[in-house]
Amino acid sequence: MRRVRIEHPGSRRPVRDLLNRPLRDLRVSVTDRCNLRCRYCMPREIYGAAHEHLPREELLSFEEIARVVRVLAAHGVSKVRLTGGEPLLRRDLPRLVEMLAAIEGIDDLALTTNGLLLARQAQRLRDAGLTRVTVSLDALEDADLRAIADAPISVERVLAGIDAAAGAGLAPVKVNMVVRRGHNEHCVPAMAEHFRHTGHVLRLIEYMDVGTTNGWVLDEVVPAAEMLTAVAARWPLAALPPAREGEVAERHRYLDGAGEIGVISSISAPFCGSCTRARLSADGRVYTCLFAVQGHDLRPLLRSRSGDRALAEQIERIWGARRDRYSAERARASRPRARKVEMSYIGG
Ligand code: SAM
Ligand code: SF4
Ligand code: SF4
Repeated sequence: MRRVRIEHPGSRRPVRDLLNRPLRDLRVSVTDRCNLRCRYCMPREIYGAAHEHLPREELLSFEEIARVVRVLAAHGVSKVRLTGGEPLLRRDLPRLVEMLAAIEGIDDLALTTNGLLLARQAQRLRDAGLTRVTVSLDALEDADLRAIADAPISVERVLAGIDAAAGAGLAPVKVNMVVRRGHNEHCVPAMAEHFRHTGHVLRLIEYMDVGTTNGWVLDEVVPAAEMLTAVAARWPLAALPPAREGEVAERHRYLDGAGEIGVISSISAPFCGSCTRARLSADGRVYTCLFAVQGHDLRPLLRSRSGDRALAEQIERIWGARRDRYSAERARASRPRARKVEMSYIGG
C-alpha cells in the first residue's frame, strides 16, 4: 500500500546515552489492562477485581503517542513495537498503526499480543501498515496454558490468531514462550516440534525478574543454553548471525531445514551493552530500562502549549543521562532492587 509519509521536524539526529548507545527502538504500551492473568506477569492475587487500572483520561491519546514517535524518529528511532497489557484491548488500534506507519523514518512497526483477539484484527492491522507480529504462547496443551495464564482459554484460539496473522501477510510470526522451571519447561520439545516447518519462529525466553509481584526466584530460570541443548538433542542446530543490530534473540537454524528457533537469555547472558530501547508507558512515562524504578513523565509537556522542540529537548536530556545496565549488574548486586516497574505496565 502506498502511504503519505509525515515528515518529522528537523533532520534525523541520533541521540546517544552515557555509554554511547544510540536510541533506536521504542516499545509503546497502549494499555495496562489484560484479558489474562499470567502468573509470571499479572498474578491474580495482586491484579484481582480490586486492582485499579489507569483511568481512561490518564492514557495517552493516539495523537499524543504519534507525536512522541514523530519526535523520536527525528532522534534515530526506526523501530516501534506496540504492547501492553494486551494491546488488542485498546479500541481502534489499527488507527494508531496507520498513524505511526505514516511517520517518516519508522520502517518497522510490530505488535506483541497474547493472540486471543488477533484472528479478527490481523487483516485490518496489516492493511493499516503493521509489519510484524509476535504472539506469546507458553504451552500447547490447554491444561498447561490455563495454569500459566490463570484463565479458561484455549490453545486453539491463539493458534488461530497466529494463522490469521500469517494469512494476512504478517509472516513469519514470532512465537514467544517464557520458560519457567517446574511450570512449563516440559513443554519445550512439543512447542519446538509444533512450530518446525511452519515458517514461524519460536523464541524461548528466560523467565525474568521484572517487577516485584511475580515472586521471581533464580531457581525457576531455565538457562537458554539448557533449552537449546534439549532441542538440539532431537533436532541438531547451527547458530545464525543476528538479523539486525541490537537484536536481543540469539538465532539458530535446524540443520534438517525445518526453519529457525531463537533464545532470549536476559538472565544468563545479558545484552545491556547493545541495548538501544526506550519504553513509553500507556500514561506517557518514558523508561530507559525494563528494570527501572522510575519513569520520566512526558504528559505535562505533551498537554501544555510547548512545541515539539521542547519535547525533543526533554527526550535528549532523558536519553543523554542514561547509564542503565541492570541485567549486566544483576549478578553482582548484593540484593535485588526493591522497587521496579511492572511488566504489564511497560509491556516487556
Ligand atoms: N499481553 C501481550 C503478550 O503477552 O504478548 C503483550 C505484553 S507482555 C507483558 C509482553 C511479553 O512479556 C510477553 O511475551 C510475555 O510473555 C513477556 N513476559 C511477561 N512477564 C515476563 C517475565 N517475568 N519474564 C519474561 N517474559 C515475560
Ligand atoms: Fe497479559 Fe501479556 Fe502479561 Fe500475560 S504476559 S498477563 S497476556 S500482559
Ligand atoms: Fe536494556 Fe535494562 Fe535490559 Fe540491560 S537490563 S538490556 S539496559 S532494558
